[in-house]
Amino acid sequence: MKSPDFAQRIAQLRKEYNLTQSELGKQLGVSNRAVSKWENGISNPQIEIIYQICKMYGKDLDYFFEDSLEAEKEKEKKGKSMPTIRELYKIGRGPSSSHTMGPEKASFIFKEKYPEADSFKAILYGSLARTGKGHMTDFSIIETMKPKKCEVEFDYTTTDLPHPNTLDIIGYKDGKEIGRLRFLSLGGGQIKIDGEELHENKNLYPLHSFDEIKKYCEEHEMRLWQYVEMIEGKKIFDFVLEIWNQMQKSVKEGISKTGVIPGRLGVQKKANHLYNQHHIDETTETRENRMVASFAFAVGEENACGETIVTAPTCGASGVVPAVMCYYKKKRNFTDEEIVHALETAALIGNLVKTNASISGAECGCQAEIGTACAMASAGLAELLGMSLSQIEYAAEIAIEHHLGLTCDPIYGLVQIPCIERNAVAAMRAINAVNLANFLTDTRKISFDLVVDTMYETGKDLSKLYKETAEGGLSKLYK
Ligand code: SF4
Repeated sequence: MKSPDFAQRIAQLRKEYNLTQSELGKQLGVSNRAVSKWENGISNPQIEIIYQICKMYGKDLDYFFEDSLEAEKEKEKKGKSMPTIRELYKIGRGPSSSHTMGPEKASFIFKEKYPEADSFKAILYGSLARTGKGHMTDFSIIETMKPKKCEVEFDYTTTDLPHPNTLDIIGYKDGKEIGRLRFLSLGGGQIKIDGEELHENKNLYPLHSFDEIKKYCEEHEMRLWQYVEMIEGKKIFDFVLEIWNQMQKSVKEGISKTGVIPGRLGVQKKANHLYNQHHIDETTETRENRMVASFAFAVGEENACGETIVTAPTCGASGVVPAVMCYYKKKRNFTDEEIVHALETAALIGNLVKTNASISGAECGCQAEIGTACAMASAGLAELLGMSLSQIEYAAEIAIEHHLGLTCDPIYGLVQIPCIERNAVAAMRAINAVNLANFLTDTRKISFDLVVDTMYETGKDLSKLYKETAEGGLSKLYK
């Protein structure tokens, strides 16, 4: 080993990805002691292991052998990496991951930081101000701050904001301000304190494009779920199993309920009706659509009622993935293990969109929420059906491509119309995307990475009227 920096470089790489010596050792199939010896210059890894590290972390051999680290550091600053899928799938109460779960988490963080405060004030800006009432943002903040008092103010005029979902929380003691923090609710329940590193963000995945991951998996004859388990460790299986159990529970609960969803729209619950009604001339295809739609409605309705669901990737789009998975479990008797692997595949797709674009309706419109959910469901189903990596990619690509430009215009800011029905349409579309990808694989021209970039560009170009502000589209014209 010629490079004097070798020990330093391996330690730097490990820290960059927030791994312990034992976690890195596990990924490489060696002990933590071996990693410690490399980092202390006592021994060097075999060349095969160095190759393995290079592939896993997207480095070339120069990283370990060239003299200057500075150039590499500069390159890395521009790069990204992906967090754990635990930050994508979250079990929580609806109706909105960015407008309910995120602010709830922000309130909790603030409350923990300032235990001496005797009262609080939250100021909501941007999309949080415009659709916060319908999404129960104020309610979730006040509930989290209890038993202490919290006032919630809606600021509709400030436009110079770091993110469309911005909120300030201020703490008081004896009437005097003792602390203030600005939070950004990034979507999927994720929160960032303005000016600080991303809360709970553990950069775990070294590769952050589908293309790189696909190449790695092909070279190592791996499925995408195996890549997820290699990076996250075997325990991720149990976590995803819990997610799957909650998804099934939400479908079951939603199917069993009837009545009206709270909120001034007076929307009737439809899942139970869809599940039990038969079409006058019901073919197998009509039945499939009815069943899938009823499962998606079930979760969407649970979410709209503030019940417990899984963000997949958000609350508003939480019905798509469970609908497809539950239907296929019923139709083809897939085991829980097979479905967990499909959900791991789906999560990787969602994570790629979240990392390289956005899963937030307030940032990029509904294409980012429902489009991503549809891509996740397509990829998961393609995995269940044993399709190739190229076919999985194609299915996910089709799913996003045909949601490009989809606006977010929830009436009265409630996650009901068009949201619930949209989950059902996207679930049916996910199945169609898989069928199409199965037939047309070799004709594909657009990569998944390209369509994700396109979705982000489109989202940035969309007028703010269509980004969860309840100011345009259906929310403007509905009387
Ligand atoms: S329209 Fe789409 S992005 Fe907007 S709240 Fe509804 S599901 Fe979410």
